[in-house]
Amino acid sequence: MDHVTKAVRSKIMAAVRSRGNTTTELPLGRLLWAAGVRGYRKHWPVTGKPDFAWPGRKLAVFVDGCFWHGCSCKYLPRTNTEFWRQKIETNKHRDKRVAQSLRRDGWTVLRIKECAVRKPATLARIVRALGFPNEVTQAMLR
Ligand SMILES: [Zn+2]
Repeated sequence: MDHVTKAVRSKIMAAVRSRGNTTTELPLGRLLWAAGVRGYRKHWPVTGKPDFAWPGRKLAVFVDGCFWHGCSCKYLPRTNTEFWRQKIETNKHRDKRVAQSLRRDGWTVLRIKECAVRKPATLARIVRALGFPNEVTQAMLR
């Protein structure tokens, strides 16, 4: 028997969903797979643990959740606004430090916003950074 109310259930589902990064990592993973772009490692153990990394090419790709990384497509919550503003500022500073540190070590760093994951330009950026578009990606980018 399921004793959980609808409201509670949807809260549980929201929590599960946010843990799995389904709005950020998974869509990009699927897109790369569909485009035939291979060779990436997830959470490669360098600064910031990039979501996708091509260690041989030193390309690091981060997929940033819009709320947590302060994308302009999101509004701050109406309650505790100052708390959230500071929290997100801290995240943005960390993003910057991580990117700077990786670039010093010779990495190319791409940060992709959650709201831009499905845009063709996003795939184009990655393929361009990798430097060898294959037949599939060339067709997709045309
Ligand atoms: Zn956004």
